[in-house]
Amino acid sequence: MEAKSPNTIYLKDYKEPAFLVNTIDLNVALDADLTKVKSTLGIMRNPKMPEQKSLVLQGDALTLNEIQLNGTPLTPADYTLSNNELIIKDAPEEFSLMIETQFSPRENTTLNGLYLSGDILCTQCEAEGFRRITYFPDRPDVMSLYTTTIIADKQKYPVLLSNGNLIDSGLLGDGKHWVKWQDPYRKPSYLFALVAGNLGCAEDSFVTRSGRSVALKVYVEPGNEVNCTYALQSLKNAMRWDELRFGRGYDLDTYMIVAVSDFNMGAMENKGLNIFNAKYILANPAIATDQDYEFIEAVIAHEYFHNWTGNRVTCRDWFQLSLKEGLTIFREHEFCADQQSREVERIKNVRKLRLEQFPQDEGPMAHPVRPDSYIEINNFYTVTIYEKGAEVIRMLQTMLGRDTFRQGMDIYFARHDGHAVTIEDFVQAMEAASGRDLTQFRRWYTQAGTPELYVTSNYDSANCRYTLRLEQVCPPTPMQTSKEPFLIPVTVSLFDLMGQPLPLQMSGSLNEATEQIMEMTQSVQEFQFNNITSYPIPSLLRDFSAPVKLRYPYTTQDLLVLMRHDTDSFNRWEAVQTIENRLILQLIDEDKSGAALCLPVWFTDAFAENLSVRNQNLQYLALLLALPSDKDLANEMTIILVEPIFKIHKFVKRELATQLKDQWMAIYKEYNDNKPYQFNAIAVGQRSLKNIALSYLMANPTDEIRQLCLRQFVNADNMTDSLAALVCLSQVDCPERVEALNKFYDKWQNEPLVLDKWFAIQAQSHLPNTLEVVKQLITHPKFNWINPNRVRSVIGVFAMLNDINFHALNGDGYAFLADQIIHLDNLNPQVAARLCEPLTRWRRHIPERQALMKKQLFRIMSTPNLSRDVYEIVSKSSG
Ligand SMILES: [Zn+2]
Repeated sequence: MEAKSPNTIYLKDYKEPAFLVNTIDLNVALDADLTKVKSTLGIMRNPKMPEQKSLVLQGDALTLNEIQLNGTPLTPADYTLSNNELIIKDAPEEFSLMIETQFSPRENTTLNGLYLSGDILCTQCEAEGFRRITYFPDRPDVMSLYTTTIIADKQKYPVLLSNGNLIDSGLLGDGKHWVKWQDPYRKPSYLFALVAGNLGCAEDSFVTRSGRSVALKVYVEPGNEVNCTYALQSLKNAMRWDELRFGRGYDLDTYMIVAVSDFNMGAMENKGLNIFNAKYILANPAIATDQDYEFIEAVIAHEYFHNWTGNRVTCRDWFQLSLKEGLTIFREHEFCADQQSREVERIKNVRKLRLEQFPQDEGPMAHPVRPDSYIEINNFYTVTIYEKGAEVIRMLQTMLGRDTFRQGMDIYFARHDGHAVTIEDFVQAMEAASGRDLTQFRRWYTQAGTPELYVTSNYDSANCRYTLRLEQVCPPTPMQTSKEPFLIPVTVSLFDLMGQPLPLQMSGSLNEATEQIMEMTQSVQEFQFNNITSYPIPSLLRDFSAPVKLRYPYTTQDLLVLMRHDTDSFNRWEAVQTIENRLILQLIDEDKSGAALCLPVWFTDAFAENLSVRNQNLQYLALLLALPSDKDLANEMTIILVEPIFKIHKFVKRELATQLKDQWMAIYKEYNDNKPYQFNAIAVGQRSLKNIALSYLMANPTDEIRQLCLRQFVNADNMTDSLAALVCLSQVDCPERVEALNKFYDKWQNEPLVLDKWFAIQAQSHLPNTLEVVKQLITHPKFNWINPNRVRSVIGVFAMLNDINFHALNGDGYAFLADQIIHLDNLNPQVAARLCEPLTRWRRHIPERQALMKKQLFRIMSTPNLSRDVYEIVSKSSG
């Protein structure tokens, strides 16, 4: 086995490819045990790189059978072959190269390249999986025209798919058949896809604005066709939306999606042939929750939007990954906001950013949206590239305005369609549309870290002048000790003590709107508002106008005014969260000093106020009523106090449950109406509210409430309600818990996606013996190391969503995780690397935990033959 040399790859070393591959003709003789690939490349020297004469092709885990240049076989003297490169020195100006390789898809447990998922052969080539299929310049700036012939046993693999259009097919002797696909669009190798198997197909169609009739086909395991209706509807909604919002239509006659069970990521946007993790396709009310439906809509749209932002305009190199991912996440968020509830969507997006991306910025893997270096690119499919990247795009839209932003997008597509480009090209298109100089704005792409924004205010009542003083500080991150000031758009409104919005007159502006954007460009900057006739309360960073941490010394009274009156739904929610965060942290302090715990009356009253305002979006209301999670609270602490957070959070919830029991019960009864399941905003809102009421009731469960919860579990006609009840029961040590978990297993043991939920619920339980349960779960006959969904549902959920048990002070949780990472690294390095994340956060914990976590990082680090994936994360974290 090759010792993986941890080479770092730098953006500054980027060079254009020495050779271009105009055409690639693939002939794939498929077999699960031994697949042979004959690849014929039409190659020419890149005129821009005349001095580079060696053709370098990447390959991984391949056996080279034969190689011919212009029809003449090459001997080993003509090329250099190493474990991951095939180099032909002094290649001609223009030539044809034929390479035959072979490999075993069955032995490929990395789920990169061509592999077996159940009985289906499928591919995952992003970022560097194509090199596991054939030797090729496997980099996104080599764009080629693909023709793919697939030969396979007709009975085992009746359906044979690849990118583009089916142009020919036929039968061979010995029970085999063949098909030929041609993709009319140039594409990089990471967008190549191939699928073969016995698949059913759910079909629909869509007519584009330009009149093209597109056949929509979703391929699934036979029997699952009925569960594709929502995916197809979401696809059509996304296609229409992209035409209306961005003027982008679809460009092939067929759009295919294949759902497979074993998949490392959520889904992959291969041109014309998306491959999906089945969990983001299959749905019906009995097996999918409201959240599953939302995810399906989002992921379907995301992959569809990539056709323009990713496929037609692609990335020059992997450092530009956010060019396609940040932009596409932004488009996905906007789409979901238009489909469902904009206010709810925004809160969910920001919570994800804060809970996952902000901690990444504080840790050893902190990197800019456009990184400068990496060891393993698979480790850079991160929340920073995706979610922060999307926030950076959103700031552009906020500052330029939606129309100018759209013009910038049009310019971007017009300039770069069919090319592999950079983030710089994108920013220049926005500059061209707006006429603005975005030099300073570019720092969002090059500087890592979450800026902290400290705001103070001064009200000069004599002169009716109000001044906001803003100061930005960005903490050091690895390789970046000091930062230049960011351009931060801070959207602001002012409210008087009665909650009335005040007209804003910023100095130099005659605008009398009640909302303005303060564009902060300096480290410290003041903004003045004139003719402010009464004491104002600022509503800052409205709609979360920038990905920063805002610090403003709000009084509780200020926050209550904003909670009641802010016209920005995000900041109303934020005011409630801030009140609750502060209260819980204060109670943690009081508890430490030995004081008796007591929930202040003003707080219960304010909370009850929200409970009674029912004439609003109920899903939004459910968010208002949800206390900050353990993770939210941990985020607010410099050193995370695991047990106190758990204890006080539980105390506050129990108090609210007890003191407001009648109100919770009234809400529960009002919305527990046994109407047949529907997935729409109103029905989702009602279920959200009912189930949050249930979760409060179950925070102080009497026999009667446990029975009510069990009844909901048993009687529900849908997974949302059934699962919500099961989650509540799983946190209580009671006979109903055992009964419900057993019933759930009996009912769903043959539905893999539902069974994942059964595993996850147990791994997430706060009960004290959970680690023992988790250890049993990974020996359960239905546990499967090859299936990433199953692995994540047990090991990932335990390590990432069960702080009280994972961080047990005996260190057993950490040791367990390290054991599993070491085991999994031999099978699937990409998934193993993702599981390292909780251990990398050791700096935020108390010294005892730091030592225990580092011990496990060192143990992983000293394991022989570690993958590049795990090596990079662990080596950067253990220092
Ligand atoms: Zn994507």
